[in-house]
Amino acid sequence: MEKKEQIYEGKAKKVFGTENPELFIVSYKDDATAFNGIKKGTIVGKGVINNRMSNLLMQHLEKAGVPTHYVEELNDRETVVKKVDIVPLEVIIRNIAAGSFSKNYGVEEGVVFENPTIEFSYKNDDLGDPLINDYHAIALKLATPEEIETIKKYSFIVNDQMKAFWKECGVTLVDFKLEFGKLSDGTIVLADEISPDTCRLWDSETGEKLDKDRFRRDLGNVEDAYEEVMKRLTDHI
Ligand code: ADP
Ligand code: UDP
Repeated sequence: MEKKEQIYEGKAKKVFGTENPELFIVSYKDDATAFNGIKKGTIVGKGVINNRMSNLLMQHLEKAGVPTHYVEELNDRETVVKKVDIVPLEVIIRNIAAGSFSKNYGVEEGVVFENPTIEFSYKNDDLGDPLINDYHAIALKLATPEEIETIKKYSFIVNDQMKAFWKECGVTLVDFKLEFGKLSDGTIVLADEISPDTCRLWDSETGEKLDKDRFRRDLGNVEDAYEEVMKRLTDHI
């Protein structure tokens, strides 16, 4: 399978067409951004790690009954995926207070919830990805009520699966962001990526941050953290 025209260049990935109108190739970059693109940098080797990790996790999720866009890993940085119409919602699941939850609601980082929370942001860079609820999403015609129910159902399965998976790797899954898309027949599938860019992952023993917060907060050893969390995953499977 070969790349054809570039369809899109995002902050972390490029998307290419292929000879098959139903398939895209995504190419993972080392570019890192935070705070809606205001902070920019490079995390050397990140693209390779995120590509591999996302593909391994999506294959695991498929087995657990969550349909995904994953088709085939081509090389270190490139993967064939099913082309979808992205549902312009960022779905965020949280198990532990951190990041914007701590800031918005005045809760200390690290407070463990009895049950996971779910929230939606409207995926729109110009508006700064504002927080919205189900009713807003429906009013804005971002998704139908049925699609939102499917997205919620899959998101909680992803959380259960990923929490258990990472626990076995000695890593605590704090929170994460998912994106879903629609295939040409309307089927909802998990798309985009699952990686240390999109999840908060803490060492279960020490609480050390092994994710993009090291970049966001200038904590240092960013590359080491990505490599460490990838090593934990590959040692486990
Ligand atoms: P951003 O757009 O936020 O800068 P990326 O750099 O990760 O993000 O770009 C990848 C883009 O590709 C995202 O906009 C994402 O929604 C989109 N995307 C992810 N998976 C698919 C897919 N299977 N089909 C079509 N678009 C996808
Ligand atoms: N997240 C993401 N992309 C975004 C916003 C958030 O991948 O555009 C992830 C982030 O890595 C974290 C979770 O979603 O794992 C919750 O992020 P939060 O709302 O706390 O935002 P932030 O702290 O980044 O402002």
